[in-house]
Amino acid sequence: MARPWAAGKLVIASHNPGKIVEIAALLAPYSIATVPAVTLGLPEPEETGATFEDNAALKACAATSTSGLPALADDSGLVVPALGGAPGIYSARWAGPGKNFMAAMARVQRELGDRDRSAHFVAVLALARPDGETLLFRGEVYGRLSFPPRGERGFGYDPIFIPDGYSETFGEMDPAIKDTISHRARAFEKLVQACFIRE
Ligand code: IMP
Repeated sequence: MARPWAAGKLVIASHNPGKIVEIAALLAPYSIATVPAVTLGLPEPEETGATFEDNAALKACAATSTSGLPALADDSGLVVPALGGAPGIYSARWAGPGKNFMAAMARVQRELGDRDRSAHFVAVLALARPDGETLLFRGEVYGRLSFPPRGERGFGYDPIFIPDGYSETFGEMDPAIKDTISHRARAFEKLVQACFIRE
């Protein structure tokens, strides 16, 4: 059984196929019917917020107010302290309209030069409910950057990120392992504790 929306479907308020796959895998153990925003024809709102939290809430609330259903959104990105936190909330935008992540990863490498390769991913999940309440959950995974990109799995910046304690990049790693240690999984654990009961 799941709460607090057992009576209704949960909208996955993302248009990013990589995220939708990971969120679906994380939700799989719970008896919650989900529907992707794209299936409902919901538009992708512009990310005008200044923080991951602002953007996650903005996406979830937009989906809830258009659909009348509870909605779950993720805003996430790669944070490189030596680049002043970039690309951060601009992680998707660094790939441009063509979503060219090879170019985005090359830009990270170029701008970083030989500075410190420490990096982390951040994910903020926002759960918006039709009654107006929005809950926020943040997860992070720390590691280091590695060039050139390695691995065909995952999405986005996965091929250049090695989580602490591992030698493979997220792009090389079995997705089932990524789903236990990722920023998204850690945010999701907090959401589960606050909202769900595992069957
Ligand atoms: P947004 O949350 O839609 O603004 O996009 C976040 C962007 O951050 C994605 O398009 C990816 O580029 C990057 N990102 C977020 N999570 C991950 C991940 O788990 N692996 C690789 N890249 C990620």
